[in-house]
Amino acid sequence: MSDELYPASRLGAAAAAAGKASLDALLLTPGPDLRYIAGYDAHVLERLTCLAVPAHGDPFLAVPRLELPAAKASPAGGLGIELLPWDETEDPYALVAKRLGQPAVVGLSDRMWALMVLRFRSALPDARQELASVALGPLRARKSPAEVAALREAGRAIDRVHAQVPGWLRAGRTEAQVAADIVEAIVAEGHSRADFAIVASGPNAASPHHTASDRVLRAGDAVVVDIGGTMPTGYCSDCTRTYVIGEAPADFAAYYQVLKDAQDAACTAVRPGVSAESIDAAAREPIASAGYGEYFVHRTGHGIGLETHEDPYIVSGNTEELSPGHAFSIEPGIYPGPHGARIEDIVVCTDTGVERLNLVTRDLIRVPA
Ligand code: ZN
Ligand code: ZN
Ligand code: ZN
Repeated sequence: MSDELYPASRLGAAAAAAGKASLDALLLTPGPDLRYIAGYDAHVLERLTCLAVPAHGDPFLAVPRLELPAAKASPAGGLGIELLPWDETEDPYALVAKRLGQPAVVGLSDRMWALMVLRFRSALPDARQELASVALGPLRARKSPAEVAALREAGRAIDRVHAQVPGWLRAGRTEAQVAADIVEAIVAEGHSRADFAIVASGPNAASPHHTASDRVLRAGDAVVVDIGGTMPTGYCSDCTRTYVIGEAPADFAAYYQVLKDAQDAACTAVRPGVSAESIDAAAREPIASAGYGEYFVHRTGHGIGLETHEDPYIVSGNTEELSPGHAFSIEPGIYPGPHGARIEDIVVCTDTGVERLNLVTRDLIRVPA
């Protein structure tokens, strides 16, 4: 049923994608690939849990015996996959290798630990190792209606957190104190966990991946607040707004408007058939023509789903055409120092254009000092 978030049809789709990518089998350890294909949100541990999906043949799930009840209770338990429990004294890599036969090429989850990659190399010495994303990336990048609904719900939840941020920004508080309030609200508004809370004030706002420090907020600070979490569905939020405490520096107000217009232009440019890199250009051109090009130092965006950063990347050189269901961020920034600004929304390419999943205002928000 296509309206389910984790439909049983993904196993067959994964096998077909593996075959098309000339992989004999996918080997998926705990992480977003395993959750996407089987709905199993398994613990990431040194003990091997691995869903093997042969291009032709029956899938099976090797699982530590002590996690067998958890695997059975998960959606994976209802998919009719054979479960292969292994005991503490067994070699699970040999178990998987024996069951697979003689694959010539295996696709490993991009997030598999090196510990497991190397042990699979020893257990399957004749198999070439590739990345599973060759097969699964295109599947995961185009969201189903149920996935779009999950991302929409995540977007609304993080919007509700941003709506509360002005109440926490005050001269005299530290970035870390504001970040602690945000982390609490991310969970209170429906996420199962907060993934990051960037609160970058004053000169720190010119550092795109500053996190939150003990710097004390002051009147006249611009504050970049970039926050996100993971919902109980597994789907992520990610949204940036820039705030000002008291009066903004004069030069800051000028480029904030340029940034806002550029972010709008890039969002408006999204529709099926245009390239990912053309969206990057739509954001970059107005910033460059206003003279701030050298201060926009990162790509315009990244795909989002079960991971905060995934395909498709909105960057020069990515000629991939956008299709309905592609979900990604549009987050241009201008960082001239001693201040900076970024505006970030998640958008989805629809049949005819674009849907924004973050609706909280993009106007510059001034909070009293
Ligand atoms: Zn980032
Ligand atoms: Zn972000
Ligand atoms: Zn982002």
